[in-house]
Amino acid sequence: MKNRILVLIMGWAIMGLTYAQNSIDTKVILITLDGFRWQELFTGADSLLVTNKSYVQNPEALKTAFWRDTPIERREALMPFFWNQVSKMGQLHGNRTLGSKVDLTNTMWFSYPGYNEILTGTADDARIRSNDKMPNPNTTILELYNNTKEGKGKVAAFGSWDVFPYIINEERSGVPVNAGYEKATGGDLTEREKMLNDIQQQAPIIWESVRLDVFTHNYALEEMKKNHPKLLYISYGETDDFAHGGFYDFYLQAANRTDAMVRELWEYTQQDEFYKDQTIFLITTDHGRGTRPLETWKSHGSDINGAGGVWFVTFGKGIEAMGEIDQEEQLHSNQIAPTILKYIGLSIPKEMKGIPMKL
Ligand SMILES: [Zn+2]
Repeated sequence: MKNRILVLIMGWAIMGLTYAQNSIDTKVILITLDGFRWQELFTGADSLLVTNKSYVQNPEALKTAFWRDTPIERREALMPFFWNQVSKMGQLHGNRTLGSKVDLTNTMWFSYPGYNEILTGTADDARIRSNDKMPNPNTTILELYNNTKEGKGKVAAFGSWDVFPYIINEERSGVPVNAGYEKATGGDLTEREKMLNDIQQQAPIIWESVRLDVFTHNYALEEMKKNHPKLLYISYGETDDFAHGGFYDFYLQAANRTDAMVRELWEYTQQDEFYKDQTIFLITTDHGRGTRPLETWKSHGSDINGAGGVWFVTFGKGIEAMGEIDQEEQLHSNQIAPTILKYIGLSIPKEMKGIPMKL
């Protein structure tokens, strides 16, 4: 009897060690596509918008690119990496027509509250009520990790939107955030970083506060090659801003380009010794958008029906290949932060509202 207990205890100890070892080696890449609807992710181009002259300059060209007979073909045309590769190796949550629901727990349904919820694991409707450049009073998982021995200096964030230095509270957290039209800085800039710094100023500026995703993406990729962060956050922004402008063609094209950028990140991790087979990708959005009346596809916020419905995609190390989730479930955006903490071997703070997902 005594021996059996001893064996059991030793078993637990070994399991614990293996788990800790795995967590130390695990790298996490968290990605967001600002305001990209679950509707397009799961069913592709919208029949009511794709040929709508109010929102599309050249309907014929857009149809050729993204219109197909079935939703399955349409989503594959729009996001080929998500639907040809991620669907085979990972999980796609949030197709509400199949019963899989992912929702925000904040009731604001716009960006700062959404990113605060994703990054801190807790909605804060009392204090995070605008997109103002206010240093976040809450602590993100990037900051938590940066305050550990294993994570110190191994965290980085890149965003197209210039509010991220405040959302992540760059000053307090010490997490380097490159966002908006910021350049890469430091004494050891690569040739590509120098070039990005130059051409970022030469490309057209469409929005003062949101740079084009090509810069955010390539700065982040250079950081991966140069410094190998263990926890990396990338926030793409074009989808939301093109939607606000009412450009459905640019919105779809942005989603299609971002799909290819995520594929590039994944392919990079698979040929880099540091990341290969050790990396988990988690991808989501900060809020949804409307559907009815039709013009509400352009906007979001608590007065827009359905804008609290989002989606969540994951793949990589240890993620079960379940593909598109086609059963009843209810996930929430505040579960992403604690799930990441579990993967990187950090304990979940008592005050964090979200509970980790089992993936
Ligand atoms: Zn927006």
